[in-house]
Amino acid sequence: ATYSKDDIRQIAKDENVQFLRLMFTDLFGTIKNVEVPINQLEELLDNKIMFDGSSIDGFVRIEESDMYLYPDLSTWMIFPWNADNKGKIARVICEVHTTDGKPFAGDPRNNLIRVLGDMRKAGFTDFNIGPEPEFFLFKLDDKGNPTTDLNDKGSYFDMAPMDLGENCRRDIVLTLEEMGFEVEAAHHEEAPGQHEIDFKYADALAAADNIQTFKLVVKSVARKHGLYATFMPKPLYGINGSGMHINMSLFHDQGNAFYDKDGERELSQDAYFFLGGLLKHARSYTAICNPIVNSYKRLVPGYEAPVYVAWSSSNRSPLVRVPNSRGVGTRLELRSVDPAANPYLAIAAVLEAGLDGLKNKIKPEDAVDRNIYRMDTDERKENHITNLPDSLHNALKDLAADDVIRNAMGDRLCKNFIEAKNLEYDSYRTQVSEWERDTYLPLY
Ligand code: GLN
Ligand code: MG
Ligand code: MG
Ligand code: MG
Repeated sequence: ATYSKDDIRQIAKDENVQFLRLMFTDLFGTIKNVEVPINQLEELLDNKIMFDGSSIDGFVRIEESDMYLYPDLSTWMIFPWNADNKGKIARVICEVHTTDGKPFAGDPRNNLIRVLGDMRKAGFTDFNIGPEPEFFLFKLDDKGNPTTDLNDKGSYFDMAPMDLGENCRRDIVLTLEEMGFEVEAAHHEEAPGQHEIDFKYADALAAADNIQTFKLVVKSVARKHGLYATFMPKPLYGINGSGMHINMSLFHDQGNAFYDKDGERELSQDAYFFLGGLLKHARSYTAICNPIVNSYKRLVPGYEAPVYVAWSSSNRSPLVRVPNSRGVGTRLELRSVDPAANPYLAIAAVLEAGLDGLKNKIKPEDAVDRNIYRMDTDERKENHITNLPDSLHNALKDLAADDVIRNAMGDRLCKNFIEAKNLEYDSYRTQVSEWERDTYLPLY
């Protein structure tokens, strides 16, 4: 929605808003809040709210710690919960600015705005994103801590009574709708306790904002049901993990740039070049789209998650799928992304990959319409099918070596990201796990 300052003043008054929650996202995709009382509304509208950036992970050094929050008024929204007589809480997503008024380059949202500027320079108007986030519902223990006990034994599209998460999921959907989301599908997923909620596509920036808001809503509502919602990509060994497929389409003044009714498969030349870029840079944006150690436990054969760099229009195993819809709905679906990804960074990275494909006219390999999991190594080689990185460590090496994807983050974010993620990997690498003790103690 678009709101003027006066609209906001009026709504705040009419709705008895007592607190303003100013949101932004750090490098690792975590939502940060600064909450101020309503008496700060004028300060907020004048871009005068300050905070100390040095306490935010991956943000700034101590010497330059003062930061300003500039609200994006189009993201104004009143939380439907806590709406008792003490007044309501409104939130607004903010851009982080430095004391000299410039957009702070270490803010992932500002970075996406920058990359969208590159897109416009390349002659396009919009990059639309439709995400399909999946998550698990676990039971909480007596102390309110998450367990790994699933709350149901349901499976894909099951109905109650197998689907005990149904009430919680419906409550999530209703809350999202109250907050202005247009939910297109909500269903039980393949694994027990696993769910998916798809909401309507939006332009890249709004979609990333929506993903962040969505996670907040899912977690808050689940808690009210005595459940813990997690977007951890692979919480349990031996069953499906949670992905967040990203449907994307690129627009220019004449409409959907991926559609050409006379093209092969009714896809345009631009769609093929964009796809070529997506495949070429796949290994290097994996670190961004699958950013935690655990992400790589999901990207293994046998659990509906992609493992190989290939595309298809019919098969669901490859990295990129072309869903059936054409015309204005023509799109590419990237299936590797998981919900631990920082959506601002992930969307910027895949957009830069696609734009590079357009700029350098990168042709994709032929479509692979067979099940890649059933091919052996030689067959995959003949079909020029490579693997996605098998660990965060290897993914980071590929990111570091790819200037196009590095540029999708900008120098500052990229350097901080690679440094922090290497530390994270190292901390994991040096641990001694249950598996090791189980396997080796009896033998050595
Ligand atoms: N959960 C699967 C994944 O990890 C996706 C399942 C599906 O939506 N087809 O990507
Ligand atoms: Mg889906
Ligand atoms: Mg799914
Ligand atoms: Mg999908």
